[in-house]
Amino acid sequence: MNSPENMTGFDRDHIWHPYTSMKNPLPVYPVASASGVRITLADGRTLIDGMSSWWAAIHGYNHPVLNTALTQQMEQVSHVMFGGLTHKPAVDLCRLLKEITPPGLDTIFLCDSGSVSVEVALKMALQFQHATGKPAKHRLLTIRGGYHGDTFHAMSVCDPVTGMHSLFANSLPKQLFAPRPHCRFTDSWQQNDIVETETLLARHHATIAAVILEPVVQGAGGMWFYHPRYLREMRKLCDHYNVLLIFDEIATGFGRTGKLFAAEHAAIAPDILCLGKALTGGYMTLAATLATDNVAEIISTGDPGLFMHGPTYMGNPLACAVATASINLLLETDWQKNVRKIEQQLQQQLAPARDFPQVREVRVLGAIGVLEMKKQIDMAALQAFFVEHGVWVRPFGHLIYLMPPYIINQDDLSSLTSAVLKAARL
Ligand SMILES: *Cc1c(COP(=O)(O)O)cnc(C)c1O
Repeated sequence: MNSPENMTGFDRDHIWHPYTSMKNPLPVYPVASASGVRITLADGRTLIDGMSSWWAAIHGYNHPVLNTALTQQMEQVSHVMFGGLTHKPAVDLCRLLKEITPPGLDTIFLCDSGSVSVEVALKMALQFQHATGKPAKHRLLTIRGGYHGDTFHAMSVCDPVTGMHSLFANSLPKQLFAPRPHCRFTDSWQQNDIVETETLLARHHATIAAVILEPVVQGAGGMWFYHPRYLREMRKLCDHYNVLLIFDEIATGFGRTGKLFAAEHAAIAPDILCLGKALTGGYMTLAATLATDNVAEIISTGDPGLFMHGPTYMGNPLACAVATASINLLLETDWQKNVRKIEQQLQQQLAPARDFPQVREVRVLGAIGVLEMKKQIDMAALQAFFVEHGVWVRPFGHLIYLMPPYIINQDDLSSLTSAVLKAARL
């Protein structure tokens, strides 16, 4: 009944996977278990994880500390509604988030997934402008190349081309798109990188509620790293034009770029911050939207005096408990040193790909290594290649990239980089 073949057969016929077809699905690999940086397939093969399950599993899998946090919480209470009730796991987590995030982000809304935290942030911005008597400020400005999730308003601020949502264009609100910043993370800053954005804000600020962007690293929209000074300039413009600044740190949060939050590269704070993915160390779905006291107060004093959102599973105690354990685990380890070591090794071992004719560019920042290829990747073929080579790497579009758990050792990371170099020459 549950042989790997039966399982994948049922899966192929009946179960949707992310961005797949039911008619012509790419193969999926059944997983039996995972521990540390290794994923064990049902047929007994083990794969070294290069993806952290999409930025999330920063401590690797089956971590005793996280397991304990979850089972201990389960014996107290797994879930209660958050309307009219509260609990220690939520309070502990929010206290911690307030402490470790950029200054001023002192109110926290807990939600179920990254996309929802973006919806919540956008709603906050609209309610804020409404409450200050400026309902005309209802549009959003973002930069090209972004990815903010798959729900409808989140889709409207994804890149219209690379954001995978062009099909829905007619159903989405039309937002304003500034060019993707060109100035690289390591370049010297060029003031003209922000000029077009400035022009858009100058022209349209009366209708703009907020700017939303992924600080420093754009993830699923193209794995692009840009200069933190852009964020400082954006902060000034937003203040000048009375536009809220939203940072989507769902991918960059919790150390991935070498700072605990990417906003720290620019030494500024947004008005609203979205967190998700690594928040629970990859154990459960949970996200958070943090806002300044000012944003919270204005929303709460305006009409209708309430923030209009409240998911059923808001503040789920299991997810909160494992999130607190994951953050404490991160802070207790020398994560900065680990990320720096990963960064150095990625830089060194991916560098030879710069000379491959198939490769357009190699980019490394923090625990993220990217090969941008000149041609679109054959995902199914490459996926099978990586599995045969004992690694779990999932390329997309023109990109082959690594973002391993921070606990990975040198040998395992070498296995990942050498598989990537081989794949890039196929
Ligand atoms: C993954 C991601 C999202 C969406 O999060 P989900 O949990 O998949 O809904 C939003 N923004 C960024 C930057 C992301 O990387």
